[in-house]
Amino acid sequence: MTTPISFHNSATGRKEVFVPLREDRITMYVCGPTVYNYVHIGNARPYVAFDVLTRLLRTRYPAVIYARNVTDVDDKINRRAMENQEPIQALADRYTKTFEDDMDALWVLPPTVSPRVTSHTPEIIELIETLIRKGHAYAAEGHVLFAVTTDPHYGHLSKRSLDDILAGARVDIAPYKRDPKDFVLWKPSTPELPGWDSPWGRGRPGWHIECSAMSYTHLGAQIDIHGGGTDLIFPHHENESAQTRCAFDTPHLARYWLHNGMLTLGAEKMSKSLGNIETIVSLRGRYPAEQLRYALLQGQYRSTLAWSPELLVQAKAALDRLYQALRDTPGNETSRDFASSIVWPDAVIDALADDLNTPEALSALHGIASAMHRSEDMDERRELRQKLLAGGYLLGILGNPAEQWFRGLATEDGLSDAQIEALVEARREARKQKDFARGDTIRKQLANSGIELEDTRDGTRWKRGGS
Ligand code: AMP
Ligand code: ZN
Repeated sequence: MTTPISFHNSATGRKEVFVPLREDRITMYVCGPTVYNYVHIGNARPYVAFDVLTRLLRTRYPAVIYARNVTDVDDKINRRAMENQEPIQALADRYTKTFEDDMDALWVLPPTVSPRVTSHTPEIIELIETLIRKGHAYAAEGHVLFAVTTDPHYGHLSKRSLDDILAGARVDIAPYKRDPKDFVLWKPSTPELPGWDSPWGRGRPGWHIECSAMSYTHLGAQIDIHGGGTDLIFPHHENESAQTRCAFDTPHLARYWLHNGMLTLGAEKMSKSLGNIETIVSLRGRYPAEQLRYALLQGQYRSTLAWSPELLVQAKAALDRLYQALRDTPGNETSRDFASSIVWPDAVIDALADDLNTPEALSALHGIASAMHRSEDMDERRELRQKLLAGGYLLGILGNPAEQWFRGLATEDGLSDAQIEALVEARREARKQKDFARGDTIRKQLANSGIELEDTRDGTRWKRGGS
């Protein structure tokens, strides 16, 4: 019996068994980055979590269509380009590329489609026209606004009443709004800003309408899963939901809304506006990207996760244990060879099927590693090695050869891999010629640079010490 997949659905506030709209085609949309800066490790949390989710879903369903957009039209992008005196599109392209590099490094698989706002303005304009035609939106002074009171279900996702929303401090009062709760679908652009011709003059879309249009274009009027951080529930997802439901007369935009908890640094949410961030680019210079990914997976996606040096130390120790098990039962495969495994470890699947419980799934991997350690039967160990790698694939770890993991990251002031290899080889030759004093000197020289050696029957292994 296969374990059913269940998720906590923010729309109902309950954990529910996942029943897709269609068995042959699962659809999922996750709000992507606004590309005006390097992204921080908190931003990676949803992308890693929903990456694990797609890996899980692909073990059960023949097609999982995953769309994750790139917001390349935004006031923050315009401001930043102005400060840098750089063309807006050049800046957006540059940060789209760094984002993609970060995701590759973290082994977040590319989504099926990565739609950009700049390639979807006709669809956005069409959607706004539909909303106007159906009486859910109106044009005023070059703007188009969504009329919140025309949607009887507005507030269902964030569990807010219209009164709560009105009382919320962040509602802009503007003269062109019929109701202060109405939000912008389209706004006018000045000549130096990006703009597109529209029935309401030259302008650009608001943030929320972009996601509704791109999700509709690539996935349809109703989708299975919509994801993002809890910070997006209101107003972004509430507004996306209102736009899509009202335009297409559907009961839901997404049947399941999944929201990840926040990564904190210090006492607060890691966020660009507070300035308490660690960019992935800078972390990658100090830690192997796999260690960063493991650190994120140590928290179940809905919980708040405190980013700290200890979290990274634990991740390193845990990966050392798993890679040691792989090293002790040698083989050429890494978890990357298991993308289309047909035998997945039950304990890992069960943990992930239970609202993506990644800490439980990781401990299942450690259980396999311990069994490898205990077993003296080489065939059994090889079988367990395969299981460990298949489970590693689901979590997006163990994708490197064990030796590479133990070598760690070359630091700018440290020895390069080639220099270390050369010294290890020089030591081997010295020892072969019985010049043990020289062999010892080389070992000490390596130790002084933080390189630890281990002599085994198959030769000398080395690893970089430290975190
Ligand atoms: P943003 O670029 O701020 O729109 O964020 C992109 C994605 O990262 C969204 O899904 C956010 O919910 C998510 N996010 C932003 N900050 C954090 C954080 N500190 N922890 C977890 N997720 C975050
Ligand atoms: Zn969105």
